[in-house]
Amino acid sequence: MRYLYIAGKWTEAADGGTSQTINPYDATPLDTLAEAGDRDVDAAVTAAREAFDEGPWRRSTVTERAALLGRIADLLQRDREQLAHTESLDTGKTLNEARADVDDTTAVFRYYAGIAGAHAGRVVDPGRPGVVSRIVHEPVGVCALIAPWNYPLLQISWKLAPALAAGNTTVIKPSELTPLSTVALVGLFEEADLPPGVLNLLLGRGGTAGQALVAHPGVDLISFTGGLATGEKIMATAAHGVRRVALELGGKNPNVVFDGTDFDTVVDNALTAAFLHSGQVCSAGARLIVQDSLHDSFVAELAARADRIRVGSGLDPETECGPLISAEQRAKVERYIALGLSEGAELLAGGKRPASPDLEHGFFLRPTVFAGCRRDMTVVREEVFGPLVTVERFSTEEEAVWLGNDTSYGLAAGVWTSDAGQAERVAGALRHGTVWINDYHPYLPQAEWGGFGKSGIGRELGPSGLEEYQEKKHIYHNTSPAPAHWFSG
Ligand code: NAD
Repeated sequence: MRYLYIAGKWTEAADGGTSQTINPYDATPLDTLAEAGDRDVDAAVTAAREAFDEGPWRRSTVTERAALLGRIADLLQRDREQLAHTESLDTGKTLNEARADVDDTTAVFRYYAGIAGAHAGRVVDPGRPGVVSRIVHEPVGVCALIAPWNYPLLQISWKLAPALAAGNTTVIKPSELTPLSTVALVGLFEEADLPPGVLNLLLGRGGTAGQALVAHPGVDLISFTGGLATGEKIMATAAHGVRRVALELGGKNPNVVFDGTDFDTVVDNALTAAFLHSGQVCSAGARLIVQDSLHDSFVAELAARADRIRVGSGLDPETECGPLISAEQRAKVERYIALGLSEGAELLAGGKRPASPDLEHGFFLRPTVFAGCRRDMTVVREEVFGPLVTVERFSTEEEAVWLGNDTSYGLAAGVWTSDAGQAERVAGALRHGTVWINDYHPYLPQAEWGGFGKSGIGRELGPSGLEEYQEKKHIYHNTSPAPAHWFSG
């Protein structure tokens, strides 16, 4: 049984509600969870409010807060194997990928421990004698941090590390589908002696616990990562009371391939871009845009290699692609496959569940390649969030840029070219929050991450990721006050 964590105590839900998280590999129950209701949400926000208004955290020094974040990074590394195992079981991703997630999470805590003190404010030249003017950065208050199921540990770290570094108090809610690593992370904060109420954990569904959290008037800031429809709903709710909102939403990310790049390298990376974590990645390179002269040999090799991807349990070292997260998610991807076929896409690989009887109870789907795609097809326009890549073709650089920008999203894009000038021109022209040139997927804790267009509002990571959680106050100090003489009376 896993509990809520409110005001420094592990607790059942007030109404005794529970739910279960299941293993996507075989649909068996993994653990029972307390399921938060309205009273728990209120208790968690009240605890965070009291900790912010009266507790020591906001008044602690940056050095103290940085030391605690550094300690969390140490504990994450101590428990690396156990955390990776939990993450792999709960999400279905491979153990190697889960290990990389723990390492990346550790790096995020270390990064914000390192820069917390460097963004405390600045001195402003007031242009008047006797006046001292400065900008000070202060915490925003109570932050509601809501994470998705694809990178549970990593996504919560992008929010929690800067929120705490800035001196805020928090209520976190992981996805109901993958809460286990977040529960373990909260245990590390308890071990590191974070003052009670600074970090509160709610477990539960989005439409109940999540919605109640977002609507709670005691919350000052909402940072959400998840789907577009949920983000729109949250933004509307946040409008009541004019609460701050940061949104990291979906993507339909173009991966543009020019002729002349090393063939094996680009095919190999196109597979990683599209099928890492079974394509359940916000920045997945799910929309390949390939130059005419290369197109036919490229798609033939891509499909042949996609057919060889080994699908199975994330815990099996031979596995390259795990299951999808749920039966619903797989059904959604299968609907897109049917839609793609009905719209005239050419199925070159996958499109079906694996034949192996060992995998029949899990939520598996073979990596799927659709060629002959057009920009007006639904599978090209909408985020599928599964192991499905579409291929379109182009002839000129202008056309490639135009196609790459022909999306309402704008999270990430890839460009493959051996021409450095072309690389810079195309990267400059693409309207996406991240552009990778001759690579795909790497992100850096020190580099901003976020979306143009419908991919979101605000930035995580980098200095901007800390500033999301800071109020900026101008203190204007006239050291030689004198009458203003505006009025004569
Ligand atoms: P989701 O929107 O269904 O849920 C995300 C989180 O919000 C979960 O914790 C859920 O319980 C909660 N939630 C759901 N409804 C809510 C509501 N009404 N009020 C408050 N909380 C609510 O998304 P998901 O299916 O978990 O994640 C997949 C989506 O996340 C994809 O669209 C993906 O692109 C996106 N994503 C984006 C990024 C990024 O960095 N931009 C990263 C990872 C995932």
